[in-house]
Amino acid sequence: MRAGAARRTDRPGRGEAPEGGGSELFRELACMVAALAEIQGLRSFALPYPRFAQQALDRTVGHCLAAGETPPRSLPELWEWCRTRPADDRLFAVPAALITPDTTLVHPIGRMPTRSCLEVASHGSDGGVAAHARALLGDLEARCGTAERYRQCRKFLARHPVVHQQDRFGPSWSKAVWSRVKELYGPLPEFLLVDGVFLRCPSCGLPALSRDGKVPVLGPSAAAADFWCEGEECPRDDPPELIREPEQAWILQRSLRTFLALPHRTEEAARDALHHAGIDHEALSGPLSAYRLGDTGPGVVDIEVYDRLQPSLLAAHLTDRAPLADRTLVVVPVTLAGRDGYREAFTDTLPALLRNRLMLTTPVDLVPDLVRTRREEKGDA
Ligand SMILES: [Zn+2]
Repeated sequence: MRAGAARRTDRPGRGEAPEGGGSELFRELACMVAALAEIQGLRSFALPYPRFAQQALDRTVGHCLAAGETPPRSLPELWEWCRTRPADDRLFAVPAALITPDTTLVHPIGRMPTRSCLEVASHGSDGGVAAHARALLGDLEARCGTAERYRQCRKFLARHPVVHQQDRFGPSWSKAVWSRVKELYGPLPEFLLVDGVFLRCPSCGLPALSRDGKVPVLGPSAAAADFWCEGEECPRDDPPELIREPEQAWILQRSLRTFLALPHRTEEAARDALHHAGIDHEALSGPLSAYRLGDTGPGVVDIEVYDRLQPSLLAAHLTDRAPLADRTLVVVPVTLAGRDGYREAFTDTLPALLRNRLMLTTPVDLVPDLVRTRREEKGDA
């Protein structure tokens, strides 16, 4: 093991947190966790470690030694750290204004990268996992050639994070669509199987795992609470669905599962609300889920849909790029917007100049908020 490669430096006294660097280390570990989950089965960290993982381990060791803490000795230990040490652990000391304090990078039950991990890993100059999803969709759009073909393909991906052989005989199956999107799918990885069976969350449709690593015996006594799913926030009223022939199934790449398929229900709800209110909207390229609204007033108004657990990182993402419209309504699920401090964290992270231009809303409040926005714009004009 090369975990001890980092040299001992001048150390503050034991119990003292090292100054700075903790947030940056947390982000580096998030990128490492996200990348490792893509390349291997997570249960076998064989030596030599991938270069980026060794670097993250070395940096963690250096950080621990500077703080007078016992460092992790191996990648499995570091992975376990990421499962048990939250953002507000004194070694990271990530400000609560940036990331929810109890956030861990590896899920305690799923033992997989958390959604927050992927959001943290998307916060940086290269745009990380979310940028990967945008790039894949950009390539698909170019391959499709027409807007209508792309719309059909995108909708298929969003609705089918997992595809089974038998789906191909269903009434909604399109051979033409599948031929364009199939390269975005891969075989189900072994680490997502439980005793050779794949579990799918009945709510979000994403992979699930059981706490005890056993295939659940379905029925009224099944304890649905003992499951993790990639959506993390789903109600646990029903146990997961079982797919017993996993070798006949394909799974969408994780970046698209998290940043396209997961927000899709919110996107459909928002579009339904616009449709019922008779508000035209046209899909925009670039962001993962964005629409330009027609006839909303003197200014250009967009909606963008997100399902992000970390409101400050969402606000930072929207701040970092050039504004696309005069006003943008940022639509998130009702359950998130209603969470304590979510709206405040979003707004507080925005620079003052953008606070009037980016407004957080939900599918339920979208149309009333639009009506109010239009009234205000007319008042300004
Ligand atoms: Zn779920």
